[in-house]
Amino acid sequence: MKYIGLADCNNFFVSCERVFRPDLWGRPVVVLSSNDGAIVARSEEVKKLGVPMGVPYFKVRDELEKAGAKVFSSNFDLYSDISKRVMDTLHEELGVIYQYSVDEAFFTMEVKSVKEAKIELARLKTLIQKNVGVPLSFGLAPTMTLAKYASELEKRGSGVSVLTMKDWEVQRDTVSLSEIWGVGGATTQKMREHNLITVADFLSADNSRIEKIFGVNGTRLGSELRGIPAKMPENDEAQQKSIMSTRSFSKTTTSLAVLEEALAYHTARASEELRSSHSKAGKLSIMLGTNRHSEWVLQGATSESVLPYPTNDTIVLLREVERLARAIFVKDVPYKKAGVVLSQITADDHLQLDLFGSQQVSDNKLMSVIDTVNKNLGKDSITIGRARYKESWGSNHNFQSSRYTTSWSEIMRLR
Ligand SMILES: [Mg+2]
Repeated sequence: MKYIGLADCNNFFVSCERVFRPDLWGRPVVVLSSNDGAIVARSEEVKKLGVPMGVPYFKVRDELEKAGAKVFSSNFDLYSDISKRVMDTLHEELGVIYQYSVDEAFFTMEVKSVKEAKIELARLKTLIQKNVGVPLSFGLAPTMTLAKYASELEKRGSGVSVLTMKDWEVQRDTVSLSEIWGVGGATTQKMREHNLITVADFLSADNSRIEKIFGVNGTRLGSELRGIPAKMPENDEAQQKSIMSTRSFSKTTTSLAVLEEALAYHTARASEELRSSHSKAGKLSIMLGTNRHSEWVLQGATSESVLPYPTNDTIVLLREVERLARAIFVKDVPYKKAGVVLSQITADDHLQLDLFGSQQVSDNKLMSVIDTVNKNLGKDSITIGRARYKESWGSNHNFQSSRYTTSWSEIMRLR
């Protein structure tokens, strides 16, 4: 029988930090959001302390210190590299996977017996733990929603759980709807208003009533909870919808030159990512943001431009970014954030003539040389124009660990 599986890394950002700090296993660890603002990942020890997800760091700083917790700033270079290693292994072992988030992926599996499936998942878990170094949990069930539910069951136990329809039919009378994937705060509230508390309540309600209240999402949820799988989306790297690079500054700035520097940095990052996934972007957007909690809140602006032909050339993109930035920049506004989004992404081999018929092929050899040098000698060894990362507009990251796996200069030293 065909089952759907979910692989979900446990406390992912924390686990990434622990790969290179094995002394931190068993100790309380948190990871902060960009700019060190809020808590975005907690180890089990921190969850036990009752520190909630998303709480501002300053509110729990003393409590964490007392508990001897180790605090990290976000290190996305490290996390996305570890994520890629996990996904590559899953892909190699399982064939087609659907990556749902940085640390979760769905897959399908032919299940002959529950026992056999459990052995196979335990093997995968050990393999990833050994080769990549992060713990994960598996849930296997007839649908994605049930696989997600299953993956939570053994999170603190064996990490492997198989939920058959028979098991589910016994359990679902007592399972609260709020425990179900995708049923968030507002939906839970709405369900409560209609006296729908448990999964059984939801399933015994009239179909047309569910559709009237919750629309097609409601009927879809109903099918998934009955064991009828919805279509699983497919991942195709080239079809990735957009690439975004953006960051808040530690201090506000009113300088166009500083904003252009920040935008150049983000353009370089985003186009580098385009090239590494062998794709090009057809559309470019930039964003200048102000402090959300100030009188300047409405002064932020975005602007976008459809490129004459899809490109992944940093120089071409930079020229357009500068033009857009100058058009939306307003004097004396204290900006707090800048970012670049590349979209309408197509595969690199998909040649397309521009509107005027003359493909302005820019020097992509130059780009690949720059990428190679940066890969070998470290990020930003060669930058174009003003694309270097600067502390002046960089964000706060006071507790950042090293980029152990992606930067030669930050590789771990042993004595
Ligand atoms: Mg996770």
